[in-house]
Amino acid sequence: MNNQISNTLNNLSESETLAMTRLSRELIAEGKDVISLSIGEPDFDTPEFIKDAAKKAIDDNYTHYTPVPGYSELRNAISTKFKRDNNLDYSPDQIVVSTGAKHSLANISISLLNPDDEVILPAPYWVSYREIVKIPGAKPVEIPSSIDQDFKVSIAQIKAAITDKTRMIWFSTPCNPSGSVYSKDELRDIAELIKEYPNIIIVSDEIYEHISFTGKHESIAQFDFIKDQVITVNGVSKGFAMTGWRIGYLGAPKWIADACIKMQGQFTSGTCSISQKAAQAALEADPVCTLKMKKSFEKRRELVLSLMNEIPGIKLNFPKGAFYVFPDVSNYFGKSDGETVINNATDLTMFLLNNGLVALVTGEAFGDPNCIRISYAASEEVLIEAIKRIKETLALLK
Ligand code: PMP
Ligand code: GLU
Repeated sequence: MNNQISNTLNNLSESETLAMTRLSRELIAEGKDVISLSIGEPDFDTPEFIKDAAKKAIDDNYTHYTPVPGYSELRNAISTKFKRDNNLDYSPDQIVVSTGAKHSLANISISLLNPDDEVILPAPYWVSYREIVKIPGAKPVEIPSSIDQDFKVSIAQIKAAITDKTRMIWFSTPCNPSGSVYSKDELRDIAELIKEYPNIIIVSDEIYEHISFTGKHESIAQFDFIKDQVITVNGVSKGFAMTGWRIGYLGAPKWIADACIKMQGQFTSGTCSISQKAAQAALEADPVCTLKMKKSFEKRRELVLSLMNEIPGIKLNFPKGAFYVFPDVSNYFGKSDGETVINNATDLTMFLLNNGLVALVTGEAFGDPNCIRISYAASEEVLIEAIKRIKETLALLK
């Protein structure tokens, strides 16, 4: 038997967030007391009213194939949500519901990109962007940033990265992994630049919308002059603690929505009927239902920052949203415990896992080799213990 896999798959890396989570699950199964802060997933359970809507959906026999772009009631609810929360006008036929925002992003990539198209990824970027754009053969073009720039790239950097082949720019705000949030003025500046290039599409990933600590969430599609060039991606995983339900969605110009619907129709069909009904309940509710979780995340952010600040050699950013801190750990490069030499962030992550039993994700996965990502979507008790372990383990390095 020839076990040859496709060139496409050969060119893809495994998701490093999921790989680290798998590794920590394996160690836990072996009886090791590993704390995993590697996956970006709220530790809260889905709110009761959402679960009730799902139970009702089963009883009401929402158990059949669904329309490919999603139930019309859900697309209406998303259209209303876009207007209510983001002041965006997307009619229901400009909205496509998919199996998680990850699937929305995959639809965009496979439906719109061709081999050799370039996609600009301001770094640090969410781990899967780089791999998803590679599926149709497009080329990720990374723009570096650093903690001193609050992990945001400048307009001059974006401009310098644009070529005749640039087709898209992808970014998230609030950002996974840095927690940076783009202000309205910064978004306007990006929009004004991209407006000069009518063939470039902006993919604005706003899945952390409800976990932003700086006030009102701003969407780049709010600027009418650029809206035709923007795809707004969102979902219920993070804000509503619904990661397992697998519902994401996009709002886009109709030709783009139609392209994604065609792709989805051949790939997965419409997503899960019961999850759609649950998502509808979530999105029709007053968004204050997400506030309690947001407040807990904000409190944990303070806790994590104050504990991490006590660790020598760590340079911290001040994340304004999402539930990650992304410290620069480059001071530890070149150090050793007498056995293992730390050459980079990946070495440090493995050292912390093997010696401190804490699972984190290397910044290299997100396009920043100086940093590591710590998810603080865990209880205060767990966070305190995890940071104690990180501190003690790093102290072994001289
Ligand atoms: N975008 C970003 C920035 C994320 O962090 C995630 C989290 N997994 C996703 C998209 C995908 O989310 P989901 O597929 O669960 O909707
Ligand atoms: N988005 C989350 C993370 O960054 C979930 C894991 C994943 O889908 O990669 O950890």
